[in-house]
This record gives sequence, C-alpha cells and structure tokens, in this order.
Amino acid sequence: MPEKKWHTYDRKETITYWNTDAKEGLSREEAADRLEIHGPNELPEAKNESAVLKFIRHFNDILIYILLAAAVITGVLGHYIDTVVILLVAFINAAIGYMQENKAEKALQGIRNMLSLEAVTVRDGVRQNVSASELVPGDVVLLNAGDKVPADLRIVESSNLAAEEAALTGESTSSEKKTSPLPEDTVLGDQENMVFSGTAVTSGSGKGIVVAVGEQTEIGKINRSISEVEELKTPLMRQTDRFGKTVAFAILGSSFFIFLFGYFVRDYAAGELLLSIIGLAVAAIPEGLPAIISIILALGVQNMARRKAIVRNLPSVETLGAVTVICSDKTGTLTKNEMTVTSILTKDHRYEVTGTGYDPAGEIQLDGSQVNTESRTDLFDFLASMKTCNDASLTKKPDGSWVMNGEPTEGCLLTAAEKADISIPQYEVIQKIPFDSEYKYMAVLADTPEGRRIFVKGAPDRLFDLARGSGDFNEDSWQQAMKKRASKGERVLAAGMIQVDQAKETLTHEDLTQDFTLLGLAGIIDPPREEAVIAVRECASAGIRVKMITGDHKDTAAAIGRQLGIGDGVKGLEGREIDEMTDEELDEAILEYDIFARTSPDNKLRIVKALQDNDQVAAMTGDGVNDAPALKRADIGVAMGIKGTEAAKESAQMILVDDNFETIVGAVEEGRRVYANLKKTILYILPTNGGQALLITIAILLGTSMPLSPLQILWVNMVIAVTVSLALAFEPLEEGTMKEKPRPVQTPLLTPYYIFRVVFVSILIAGTSFAVYLYMLQNGVEEQMLQSIVLQTIVILQMFHLFNCRNETGFAFNKNFFKNKTAFIVSALLIVLQMFILYVPFMNTAFGTVPIGLEFWIIPAAMGVLLFIVIEIEKTITRKIAGRNN
Ligand code: ATP
Repeated sequence: MPEKKWHTYDRKETITYWNTDAKEGLSREEAADRLEIHGPNELPEAKNESAVLKFIRHFNDILIYILLAAAVITGVLGHYIDTVVILLVAFINAAIGYMQENKAEKALQGIRNMLSLEAVTVRDGVRQNVSASELVPGDVVLLNAGDKVPADLRIVESSNLAAEEAALTGESTSSEKKTSPLPEDTVLGDQENMVFSGTAVTSGSGKGIVVAVGEQTEIGKINRSISEVEELKTPLMRQTDRFGKTVAFAILGSSFFIFLFGYFVRDYAAGELLLSIIGLAVAAIPEGLPAIISIILALGVQNMARRKAIVRNLPSVETLGAVTVICSDKTGTLTKNEMTVTSILTKDHRYEVTGTGYDPAGEIQLDGSQVNTESRTDLFDFLASMKTCNDASLTKKPDGSWVMNGEPTEGCLLTAAEKADISIPQYEVIQKIPFDSEYKYMAVLADTPEGRRIFVKGAPDRLFDLARGSGDFNEDSWQQAMKKRASKGERVLAAGMIQVDQAKETLTHEDLTQDFTLLGLAGIIDPPREEAVIAVRECASAGIRVKMITGDHKDTAAAIGRQLGIGDGVKGLEGREIDEMTDEELDEAILEYDIFARTSPDNKLRIVKALQDNDQVAAMTGDGVNDAPALKRADIGVAMGIKGTEAAKESAQMILVDDNFETIVGAVEEGRRVYANLKKTILYILPTNGGQALLITIAILLGTSMPLSPLQILWVNMVIAVTVSLALAFEPLEEGTMKEKPRPVQTPLLTPYYIFRVVFVSILIAGTSFAVYLYMLQNGVEEQMLQSIVLQTIVILQMFHLFNCRNETGFAFNKNFFKNKTAFIVSALLIVLQMFILYVPFMNTAFGTVPIGLEFWIIPAAMGVLLFIVIEIEKTITRKIAGRNN
C-alpha cells in the first residue's frame, strides 16, 4: 500500500477511503475481516538482552568471585573434585538466579498484558470498549482527556481536543487538534488533524478514524515499545547487596588473620590451611539469599494480582507493607458508584423520583402522584438540559434489562429523564465543553425548537458562581436546598441554561458567564460500599489513616465519611482553603483533617507532598489525566482499573482491577505479609552461614581436623537456602500483623534483635555440632564418618529451626502451624536429599560422605527438638521484654 498522507485528506475522503461511517462505525463482521487482513494493532516485542548475557551477569557478584577464587585455589592445590563442585555450585547459583529473574520478568510481563490498552469505538452504531489490539483501519475511535491514543487516527470531530506528543515529537506542550485538511509538507509535529498512537489526550474530547495500526503507525515505524515495566531491584534487595559486600570483606579480612594464626601458631601446612580457609569463606557466603528474596517478591506480585491489585514493580510490594496513609477518592472507590436520582429541585417545586438503578422503572412524583411533565416547563427544561448535556447512553437489551454506557453520574440523569411520563428530547449538540474535574461542569451548545441554547450541568457551587448576578437568582435559598441534600450524603448536581444567538457556532468558558438561568438541582444517592466500611476499620487497627479526597461537596463527603468511619461527619478541608494555604500551613493542617472536598488535581499533589513532609508513606488514588502528577509523587500511586484513564494508569505503581478501596487494603496486607516473610527468610538463612563459619573457625583455632569439607558446606548452604527456605515464602499472614503500626521505611536489614538472634542461633548450631564432633572424635571415629555426622547434624538442626522462624517472634504452635503445607513438604524433601548425599555411592564419592546408621538420624533429631525448644524460650522472653502478647 503506498504511503498515504492522511493529513491532506479531508474528513469525507478519509471516511470514504476506509469505507466507514463516522456515526455508525464499522460493523462487527467488517471489523473481524479487517483484523484478518491488517493483523492485530500491536508492536513487536522490544529485543531483550540475550539469554547468555543475562546468565553471565549472575556471576558478577563479589561473593561469587570469592567462590571462583576458591575454585582456582583448590584446582592449583590439585583438589579437582572440589574445583568441579565449587564451579558447579557457582553455576547452579547463576542458573537459579537466572531462572528467578526470568520468573520475575514473566510475572511482570503477565502484568503488562493485564495493563493492555482499551479503546472506545463505535461499531454497529453502538459505543463499546475494545482492546486496542483489536482496532482496525476504518474503526471510529472516541477520545477523551486522559486517553492514550490507541492507533494513528485522522481527527473528524474535536471539542477542544489537545494531545501531548512528546513520545513522538519530543515536544512536551500539548497541541490542539482540528479537523480541516493540511498541506502535504506539514511535518508530524504540526499535523493538527491527526493524533498518533502512543501519545496522550490531555484535554477535550473528539472522534477519529483509524488510519494506521501496529507497525504501520508512526510510533511503530520508529519501533519503540509503549508500555514499559519498571525496575526489579527493591530497597531490601539493595540492602542485601550491600550486606553481601560487607560479608565478603569480613570474610576476606578474617580469612587472612585466621590463616596467619593457623600457619604460625597451629603449624598447619599451607595447603591444608588454605583448604580450610576456603571452607570458611564458602560457609559464610549466603549464596542463595538474593535468589530467594526475588522469588518471594515475585510470588507477592502474583498474589496481589490474584487479589485484584496489579503492582507494576517489585519495590512497590515492599513499600505497600509500609503505607501509613491511604488517600482515597470517594466516588466508586469508597462508594458503589451506582447512582440514582431521588429528588429534583426546581425554582417552583421539589419532585420525588422513585425506583433504583439504571432501569427507568419508576416515576417522577409531586406530592405522591406522577407529574404531568408536559404541563411543567420547569421540570421539562431541567430534564431536557440534563439529557442533552450528557455523554452517557442507556440501552434496553432484548432480555429487557438496561445497560448504561458512560459515567454513572450522567447515566442516572438519563434514567431520571426516562422516568418522565413523556419522552424527553435530546437536542442536537453543535459544540461542547467536556466535563473536567478542574472546573467541575460540562456545557453544550445545542439546537432546540426555542432556538440555540447552551446547557450546563455540574457542581452546584460552580453553577451558582455562573448564575450569580443573573436575573432572579436567589442564592440563599438554592444554597440551603443544596446543603440539605448534601448533608444526607447525596451528590447534588445542578443544571442551567443560556439562550444564545442563532448564529453562535462556538462555545468557550466565557460564554457561560452571562444570562445564566439555573434550572434546578438533582439529589443523587450513591451508597457506600459495605466492604469499604470493614476495610476502613481494618486500616484503623493497622495504624493506617484513611483520608477521603473527593471532588464532591464538603457536606456530601463528610456525611458519606461518617457512614464509612472516616472523619467526624462535620470537619473537612475544601480545595479553595488549601489553595489559600502556604505549604508550611498545609504541612501543619494535613494530619488534622480526614475529609478533603471540592479538591482539584493540583490540591491532590500538594496533599501528597504535605503528607510526605510529615514522614508519612502515602498511597493516593486517582483516575483522571490531571491526577498523574499526584500519582507519580505518591509513594504508591493507585489508579483505577475500570474508570481510570490511561494516563493515570501509566503514572501509577498499582492498578485496582475492581476500583475498590478494599483491594488497596488487601494489597497493603499482602505487602506486610511479604515483608514479614522476607525478614523470616533472612533470619532463617543467616545462622546456617554463621553457624558453619563459626564451626570452621573453632576447628582452626583449636587445631583439629576439619569438621566439614568445603563441598559439604556448599551442600548445606544450597539445600537450606534454595530448597527449605522457600517454605517461608508461603507462610500465611501472622495473626496480629494488621493490628500493628506500619513499619518505619528506613528499618535496616539487620535490627539489633536480628543481629542478636542470628548470632545466638549461629552459636547454638556451631556449639551443638562441634560438641557432636568432639565427642565422636574422642571416640576414634574416622574423618569421613565424622564429617557425614556433622553434616547431618547441621541440616537436621536447620530443619527444626525452620519451624521457629515460621513465626518471627510469636509461638511456633499457633493456628497457622498446619496452614503452610510447603513447610512440611520441604522438610520431607530435605530428608530425601540427605538420604541422597549419604547413601548414594556416587554422591559419597563426590562429597566425601559415607552411609550413617539410624542412630545418627535420631540423635540430631533429638538435638533439633532441643534447639527448637531453646529458641522458643528465647522468643517467649523477648516477647515479654517487648511487651507483646502474640
Ligand atoms: P471522587 O470522589 O472520586 O473524587 P468525584 O466524582 O466526586 O470523584 P469529580 O469527578 O472531580 O470527583 O467531580 C467533581 C464534581 O463535579 C462532582 O461532585 C459533581 O458535582 C461534578 N460532576 C461530576 N461528574 C460530572 C459530569 N459528568 N458532568 C458534570 N458535572 C459533573
């Protein structure tokens, strides 16, 4: 197909070329046929780093360097089996790291797929959402502020439509979009009758015809992937990296001194001593720790996705566990967003509206009986205004049920109009100012039998501003009427009208300030979500403050807040009050208020900043295009999956599939669980290294033979870190986790208690196994048998220690004891692995082990039980000291 210069085509030519219809769109069949021909509207995957390179990167770690150095030294000393096994371990370690990285990437990739773009098209005359990948040339696409442009479109309708095209042109200011054709040599950045895939609509609304999809689009030609998934390293991972480096230097330092001591004081032969030192180095390195941390985090991401919270990066999993404040929108997140108009207030009367939901079964009544709308111009004009100034649609399905497409606030007004006893007209719209939460109203210029009129609907206070000074507007009585509805928790929407000159063609905000007639108010109920009430309560006991940040009226917000348990039902801060405050004043006031009403997106950003100035970790929800800065700034930006714009989703770290407040709290809970399990894993793995390092050091210092060979040490490290500790990833949420205060974000990896615990357990493991070793040594047991028994002792001790660590400080036998089946499975697996290394001949040869008798299963097990009891006693004492009771 020759390259078309779509910007030179006029509106009609484009429509004819693609054999489509600007109103009806394509038919479903035609769209399916075209999808076959043009293929899906997708870009090829960006080329990834090669697998080999990725694999090799896992050797780039100081601890692995030490392992490799150990391999070289053993090689030079002629211990080739050691060399091979050490290299094998380094290789296995890299392989595990590689597989884990792939797994984490896959998990995030899966999430990328869930984030796939949606587009609003018209097909068969019906407006519908389709996946952007299903768009075909000729499709009619509707655009609104906040949308990501899903394909290259030739604009055929524009109401103040503007797009930001930095992705393509590098120019970050928005350019206005028009519909008229342009000269052939117009460059991309000036093609104002086109919008391009990958750019974003910043304001207004419009309609376009798809002219290029997938690789044919401008962005496809330069082949840049649109949605990216973010970094894989979390603060905790960076802390463990640093910790690894510290360990490495400690190993090198102490090895040097121990070598000197062994050589000069104990008269070891250099070669033998070197092997012991290698044993020591290998023992102290927690090889498996980084891999296990990324497994736990990746599993956390998957769990959250299962609980309807899509987290787009690993660091957020950690941050979620530390959230101290959740700032939530009201409409749809804390409330059901199932709007129903229950009353209509005009200058003359107060009408009741019966029925619930979008089904127009119900009546508009005055004093208990249905109103004859024809005879009441006040009601007729109000309903016609609300119906004309409206982007939603209401359709009856063949089965008799009603479906609403569009904003619930608008949908419920259509339903109310349908409930009238006569058909309410929807006049033809010539121009419109789309709704925006910045100015909180919507206006249309329309043709009516009475001439050209502007209809406006929006927040009452904004419409009162417009009506002030016009004709017989009695502000006090309207204010009172509004307050009455709002203090019941109802959303109040006002409608107004302006009669204009027949020649008027355009519509701007300035046109609304003269001759404005306020037609009336609609009282709309939107009940709170039952589950949100429970979730708010849960937050309270978890030390998390919930703040409602809404565009709605203060009285409405406060009343709904009281029903939910947020705020006292009266107190609230309004957007315009925030506007008047300095940053310092806001910093001071912010913690005092839980309800923020009539806020603008800019207020949201300042609220987040103020909270952060108060050392809070803030999650902030948002859905609009203007919410993006606040979402980016928040510690956890939360976008709405259903009603959120693409711009909001792109700026957020987390996306709620169901727009539900409860899901945020669920994700926080999961974040806390993951963090707790990460800590338990560290608590569990490090004593393996500490204990063995201590054991070797004692042996060198006392001048005895080696209780374990380097290879056996590697074996212990690998089975413990990679196999057994995985059980901790599946540990359920501890009772009381959501009853504790959020953890401070800057908590170091090893708190004083952790250091104590690691040292304490290391000493217990080293002490126990050294006692066994000494006893056997004195009884003349030969070396291979000795080492096999020590190996067995350490592994079995760690098997029991796992059950101590399943609960960080609480009693091991609690109601979760049997819940985590993995703990029992890995214990069984550990026994099988031990049988493998002890009884399989080639493993005996490789690892220098020999088969042991049954008593050496029983004795270590008995010691394991003892160790388990001692640690439980220590935990009980710690609990008492810390004053905890779980
Ligand atoms: P949230 O509580 O999630 O912030 P909200 O709907 O209250 O949501 P906005 O969408 O910013 O916040 O709406 C602010 C106000 O604008 C509403 O209280 C209402 O008065 C008015 N409004 C909302 N939707 C429309 C609309 N489609 N047309 C006209 N006015 C609207």
